[in-house]
Order: sequence, then structure tokens, then C-alpha cells
Amino acid sequence: MPVNQDEERVSAGWAKLGSLLVQGGRPEESPEEGVFVNAPVTRGSTVLYPDVAALRNNGSRSYDHELVYGAMGSPVQHMLERLLARIEGGGDCQVVSSGLAACTTPLLAFMAAGEHLLLPDSVYFPTRRFADTMLARMGISTTYYPPMAGEADITALMRPETSVLFAESPGSHTFEVQDVPMLARIAHAHGTRLMLDNTWGIGVFQPFLHGVDVSIQALTKYPAGHSDAILGAVTVANGADWKILRDAAIQLGQLAGPDECWLTLRGLRTMGVRLERQSRSALALAHWLRERPEVARVLHPALEDCPGHQFWRRDFTGASALFGVELRAEYPVSAMEDMIDALALFGRGASWGGYESLVLPTTGGIRRVHADGYPRGPTFRLHIGLENVADLKADLAGGFEVLRVSTEG
Ligand SMILES: *Cc1c(COP(=O)(O)O)cnc(C)c1O
Repeated sequence: MPVNQDEERVSAGWAKLGSLLVQGGRPEESPEEGVFVNAPVTRGSTVLYPDVAALRNNGSRSYDHELVYGAMGSPVQHMLERLLARIEGGGDCQVVSSGLAACTTPLLAFMAAGEHLLLPDSVYFPTRRFADTMLARMGISTTYYPPMAGEADITALMRPETSVLFAESPGSHTFEVQDVPMLARIAHAHGTRLMLDNTWGIGVFQPFLHGVDVSIQALTKYPAGHSDAILGAVTVANGADWKILRDAAIQLGQLAGPDECWLTLRGLRTMGVRLERQSRSALALAHWLRERPEVARVLHPALEDCPGHQFWRRDFTGASALFGVELRAEYPVSAMEDMIDALALFGRGASWGGYESLVLPTTGGIRRVHADGYPRGPTFRLHIGLENVADLKADLAGGFEVLRVSTEG
């Protein structure tokens, strides 16, 4: 497929989001007074009421997005929640303290001792650790499934006590795009919930359109967008699940500081235009990397060699700017590390979603059920920022020179 048609595919969804990102989650105009463009930051614990009746009346509403006490959230948090629910196409949203809390809070909210969880083997590592330690201690067992497992294999893993089927698409580090509608069919046929970590797909994958019950976001990534805030969100499809989620979040003391919420709202205003640019730069680099002789495979959902590419093509309206690179198996990991150390424009560090480019070595053996196509060579992950794409290419080209020299030793 010609590159310019691909460019359209990876960035179309981001371009479409612009109006919602600019207009949503803003203070309401009042007829008498003017209104600031942006939400105010309200810091506070106590909320005062004029009399006992008003205090009592509001106390009974602590499960709405209402203000009763600072621990139930602030006005800017609730504006952010309303905008996120619209971006995800869901009912209600709860903002929590981090992306990881957005993974753990719904698991605690919707699971009980004796129940069983299905996690994809490609799941974000701290989610795996939470299942293996905290959930295991509370009597919840976990089975890992290959992210590309088909309908028959997933169905065979469902038990009477399975209460959550969890998906992450594309998967952390290996980028398998999952068949989410198929997973939703299985989950619902068994009367269980489908949870999706939709961090990569915010705005370009509509979880509730595809049957997801609980959608998880690390707002730390593209929504905050400037590597300056840590925050998460959970969005649910219906009011019954909202009550359960909101109650759990309150009991766990989950909320977000008003400054983090404000930074995230500010980041969201430009998320569409940032990602329109970043997704195109990432695709250009992915195409270029695929032609390099050192590279075995580029794990980018918009490229045909990425497992589940057909599901990306069917279900997504765009791509983000995070993808994996697998080097040919003859390159030693140490030479790849020398290459990474030599890069000037790519910062070495965890997380992603900011305006700047990052690189992270990802060769690893934490998987339990390797699916076909699991990387054999050394791997690293790239996050493409807003730098000039020719500069990024030149930096990577210099890195490949170091890879070659270091390999020849
Ligand atoms: C980063 C990330 C998280 C966790 O987000 P934090 O805000 O860093 O806690 C969860 N899931 C995925 C897929 C992520 O990439």
C-alpha cells in the first residue's frame, strides 16, 4: 500500500477528535457572567454548606460526581471525567491516581475471592505483578493466554468462576492487536466482564462500540502528553457498573490531585494535533526501519508483519506513535545496548506519550505462554515525539553504525 494512504489511516482518527478535545470538559457559561476558557484549579478538603439540611442532602449524593468532600474529587476532576467518557464513548468515568491504579481498581471492584482472571501474556508488567502477588494472596487465580489465541482456545480457558476476561491491545512491548469483539462475545456468553487496557488506543479505538465493559487509561501517556503528570482513568459502559466502580474507588481512597487533572485537561486540548503529527512520523520511521538489513521485524500495528494487523485495520481509526523493533537474531543484546546508548535524540527511559522521543530495551523472558511469532532477536521499543523526522532517522542511522561496529567487536 502506498505510504500516503497509510499515513491517512494512522492519523485520520486523531484529526477527527479535534473538536471534542477543544470543546469538551470546559466550564459552563452563565448568562450573567463571563466565563474563563479553562477550568479553575480548586484545591480543597472540606466543602461548606449553608445549613444542616443542605449538608445532609449532599452527603447522600457521594456516589455521583458531586462535591461533598475533597476525597470525592474536585470540579476539574469531574470535568476531565466527563470529557474522557465522551472520548471513550462510554457512560461514566472515574479518574484515579495513576494508570496502574486504573488497572488495579476495577480488578478489586469487580472480583472476589475464589474467582478466576484471564490475562493476556502481553499484559503491562505491573498488572501481571498485581495479579501474581496481591490478587493471588486474596484467593483470585490467574491464567495467562496467548494474546493471539482464537475463539476455541479462549473459550476452553473460561471456567465457571472466571469473572474477568482482561485484554490489552496492542500488548505491551510485543504489540499484538487483539480481536476485541471476539473476546467480548466470549465474555458475555459466559456472563463475565471484558476489561481492556486501552492506553495505546485512546481516541482511535472505541472500546464500548466493540463490546468492552470496562476501559482503562493511563492518562500519563498521550492525554497528559508532556511527561509531567501521572494519572489514570477507568470508564464503564453502564450505570450499574458505575456504582460498583465508584464505590470501590471511594473506599480505596482513589482520587487525583486537581493539578494533575488540570495538566491532563490542558494536554488533551492538543492531543489530536500532536498525535496527527507523531503517528505520521512513527509510521515513516517504521517503514524506514523495516527496510534496514539489521531489522528482522517492526512491530507496528499498521504494518502487515505485526500480529493482529488485520484487527487494527478493522477496528482502529488511527495508530499511536509507540512501536517495537526486533533485530535479526545474530545481533548480541549487548551490541543493541551500545546502539541505544549512542542515540542522541531518543531519551532512555520508561513510560511514553510525551512530546519527546524515547527508546527502551525490551528483550525479555517474562512471558509464560509464548505465541507463534514471539520475537527471537533483541528488541527495543521506540516512542516517536515531535522532533523533526529526518533528524530522528539520522540519529537511528548513526545507532545502526554503532550496532555493526559493536557486533564485529
Ligand atoms: C504506562 C501504562 C500503564 C500505567 O500507567 P502509569 O500512569 O505509569 O501508572 C498501564 N497500562 C499501560 C498499557 C501502560 O503503558
